[in-house]
Amino acid sequence: MNILVINAGSSSLKYQLLNPDTGVLLAKGLCERIGIDGKFTYKPQVDGKKKLDAIDVAMPTHSEAIQAVLNALVDKDNGVIASMKEIDAVGHRVVHGGEAFNKSVLITDEVMKAVEDCIPLAPLHNPANITGIKACQKVMPGVPMVAVFDTAFHQTMPAKAYTYALPYEYYENDKVRRYGFHGTSHKYVAGRAAAMLGKKPEDLKLISCHLGNGSSVTAIDGGKSVDTSMGFTPLAGLPMGTRSGDLDAGILQYLMNKYKMNIDDMLNVLNKKSGVLGVSGVSSDFRDLENAGKEGNDRAALSVDMFNYGVKKLIGSYAAAMGGVDAIIFTAGVGENSKSQRMAIASGLEFMGVKMDEKANDTRGEEAVISAADSKVKVLLIPTNEELMIAKDTASLVK
Ligand code: AMP
Repeated sequence: MNILVINAGSSSLKYQLLNPDTGVLLAKGLCERIGIDGKFTYKPQVDGKKKLDAIDVAMPTHSEAIQAVLNALVDKDNGVIASMKEIDAVGHRVVHGGEAFNKSVLITDEVMKAVEDCIPLAPLHNPANITGIKACQKVMPGVPMVAVFDTAFHQTMPAKAYTYALPYEYYENDKVRRYGFHGTSHKYVAGRAAAMLGKKPEDLKLISCHLGNGSSVTAIDGGKSVDTSMGFTPLAGLPMGTRSGDLDAGILQYLMNKYKMNIDDMLNVLNKKSGVLGVSGVSSDFRDLENAGKEGNDRAALSVDMFNYGVKKLIGSYAAAMGGVDAIIFTAGVGENSKSQRMAIASGLEFMGVKMDEKANDTRGEEAVISAADSKVKVLLIPTNEELMIAKDTASLVK
């Protein structure tokens, strides 16, 4: 069985063709500058097939982009499948499913309507996801399509975790609540953690740290998300590459009045000019910050310290929330690659049974237990694979 996984943005579209059972990847790539000057990248994972690197392909809309993907996949010289019939289903990443979706679903007209209803909750993302779905439906009629939501995994959170202390009618009338994001990633690594520990997900309390350009930490009790650090939007929680994370809302009034900013200006600062970039003044990329810190740049070092400290505090609070923790998971760009940040975050937690193994932690990008053999709480490095999770969900719905 082959599943085509699509992650559509407003002017870009990432794709992977993979086998959901074996996890074998056949091809992946990217369509960029859709509606502008169209750049197409194709990376077949089969020996002897040639890749295409940002070549010019006319893509006035997402439909031509999907068609370019299909043409490349079935190309007689460099394709990886003989015909479109070898694509059994398409799995679409959809950012926001609101309260309507607590799991992945087969796409029907009603589902499309419900995803459209969620546009006000994710005005930048859901319209692009919908465009991607419609383009696929046009170019691949009759092929089953599945929507996999970033928010769905977190729909198990209890009301005490998702309710904001605002007048309750903002929840009832306007759906203002914590939703959480990165759900596909947290769900995937939680499943892998259970497999690595040889336990059932129901028997585990996990804290999953998805640390990348965007970052979130999730408390997973018995296989279910019970709290997460992102909120109504992905701006909440930890400081990130360029996002502020949580802050005192009073700061908005103070800065907006002082610098005559309107709310769009302010949100632009909070989304694009804040986080570790804002504090360091150097970069949003943690590699640059680590290097700058080593060269004596105090603000770069401070920004990384703030980030690590934020993750450590979340680990402590989620352990308290769950009444314990069996394993802490590190994933995504920083979590998978930065041994120094993993060490900074997980050291000093010996009081709660976390003991790191420096040698075991000296690894990157592959599944590993990085805590000491006698650590009561296991610390795991697990590379995330959202595409595989989407493919698995898609396969289970169409089988
Ligand atoms: P992601 O959003 O998951 O792709 O993660 C991107 C972030 O991971 C960037 O800030 C990268 O600098 C960071 N990253 C990747 N490799 C490393 C590394 N070796 N050490 C520290 N950070 C890294």
